[in-house]
Amino acid sequence: MKNASISLRLTIRFSAIFLCGFLLFGVVVWLQLAYSLGRGRDRTLNRRAVRFEELLEATRDEPPERRKTRYEELADAMPEGNLIQVFSPGGERLFPTNPSPRDFPWPAIPAGARKEYGDLQYGGRYYRLLRLPVEAKPPYVILVAGQLNDNRSLMAQFTRGLGWATPVMLALSALGGYFISRRALRPVDQLTAALRSINIGSLSRRLPASHTGDELQRLAETCNEMLARLEDAVGRIHRFTADASHELRSPIATIRAAAECALLNRNIDSESKEVFGEILAESVETGGLLEDMLTLARADAGYAKELFEPVELTGLVKEVCAKLRPLAGAKGQTISVRAGEPPAWVRGDRSSLRRLLSILLDNAVKYTPAQGRIGVELISTASRAVLTVNDSGIGIPEELLPRIFDRFVRADPSRGEVNGTGLGLAIAKWIAGAHDATLTAQSREREGSAFTVEFRVAEAAPES
Ligand code: ADP
Repeated sequence: MKNASISLRLTIRFSAIFLCGFLLFGVVVWLQLAYSLGRGRDRTLNRRAVRFEELLEATRDEPPERRKTRYEELADAMPEGNLIQVFSPGGERLFPTNPSPRDFPWPAIPAGARKEYGDLQYGGRYYRLLRLPVEAKPPYVILVAGQLNDNRSLMAQFTRGLGWATPVMLALSALGGYFISRRALRPVDQLTAALRSINIGSLSRRLPASHTGDELQRLAETCNEMLARLEDAVGRIHRFTADASHELRSPIATIRAAAECALLNRNIDSESKEVFGEILAESVETGGLLEDMLTLARADAGYAKELFEPVELTGLVKEVCAKLRPLAGAKGQTISVRAGEPPAWVRGDRSSLRRLLSILLDNAVKYTPAQGRIGVELISTASRAVLTVNDSGIGIPEELLPRIFDRFVRADPSRGEVNGTGLGLAIAKWIAGAHDATLTAQSREREGSAFTVEFRVAEAAPES
């Protein structure tokens, strides 16, 4: 229940409230029905007793035989007329003189009896009984009985109906509740999906705003305001990084040029040569780092996709491999290329794609020991082009693999790897993303790594 979705919780609560309401309604109707039926029965018995009282009053002065006949006529004309008896206060039956059924358990009449209703059972049936004492001269007591079976079977039927209706109503209310809550919460799901699709690179997007004036509109507006603030803050950070990288470019270039100049001096002593050599190496590395930071800062600002052009990947792969072959050759490594027909055309920025491939290939050379093997493969189908760069290098530790595309992430330097900034794969990942391609890595430590870029092939290759 704690982790259940809001719609499920609403459904359960809605059903519980509905069930309580329905049961309360059922109990109230049941009680009301039982009361009304009981009252109706009592009124009927009373009416019958009064009619006999009136008859007996009207025939008070008539001879007993005539009274008996009048009594029998009325009893015959009345439903359940055989269940009306007239007793003297002492308990002696006055009418009818020949009762049927004979064994009906008429109660004894106590002295000073008053008008009273009661229940009794006879022959497996239930009866209601009215005792009506009449103050006449001489006084007498009318006893009227009426069977209750109709009432009881009606009540039983009603109770059974209630028993059937309860689960049906519960199921209907649960279904209705779920449907209503799903409908009510659908805009929340849409907002969640829209928010989920917004990442650091798409902060300029906004949630669709409904104009319903309700809580959901306020939520969407608040999220949009927050996105605007985030976009502004992130934009400032990007601008700062880009500006700082850009501003640092020239002093670093100057330091590098000064160190190169000093190293060209033939009269330089060995100690100074060593120091200038270190300065040169550091400035080259810092210059590379600045370039990478600048690239990423620009990347975060967004890519002008409208400037994309058709790029043929097979040629690009061969070109980059040819460029890096001397570097690999210096380490005794071989680079094998498998990229042929059909040509794979994608839409993109040629120099960025070249950079992406260079990063992957450069890493393969860097992190593969001497005499190792590096393979580049491009397989293209009608809809996809899959580029794989694999090596027989040192591999990537398993715990690092999920973070390998994050900025400044590098494996433990104790692995004795060459220098680097930890930005190359972040740039590669961004370039792939900007081209709607996916970049994934597979690796086993000490066995090798494989980086795969999966492109969507451009719909139409340009006319040659
Ligand atoms: P850099 O190479 O400048 O350190 P990258 O972002 O290109 O930065 O790579 C991040 C880390 O991923 C590297 O430091 C290295 O540990 C690991 N890595 C990348 N490519 C490979 C590879 N082909 N084989 C083994 N490790 C690799």
